Amino acid sequence: MEIYSSRIHVESEGRVELRDVTGQVQAKLRESGIRDGVLFLFSLHTTNSLILNEDEPGLVQDVERWVKEAFSRPDYRHDRIDRNAAAHIAASIIRNALVLPVENGELALGTWQRILHLELDGPRRRTLVVKVVGVK
Ligand code: ZN
Repeated sequence: MEIYSSRIHVESEGRVELRDVTGQVQAKLRESGIRDGVLFLFSLHTTNSLILNEDEPGLVQDVERWVKEAFSRPDYRHDRIDRNAAAHIAASIIRNALVLPVENGELALGTWQRILHLELDGPRRRTLVVKVVGVK
């Protein structure tokens, strides 16, 4: 059994921004050399999320709009400190980690599944932990 650990970084330009990071994660999996096992992806932050879905431009805009509308309120207490309570609440509800199967040295993803980083309080530079556990 092998354990590989690494990190990837994601930069955002907007406040709420969905970005496909599948290629970066796949590159780490390739570097690990692990052919069968699981890949664990984890965010080290409190105002971003990780989701698994389709990277279709219209859907990306729909998700970004939904996040902005669903979590915004004019009277959050935390907003008195740094004006990002909606981002903390969204990040608490939307997951911040993914566990993905590895088969034949590749992520076993469905045809339309992509690993998407959801920035909720950008622009920022984020760090994600990648761990791959399995056999070579
Ligand atoms: Zn805050």
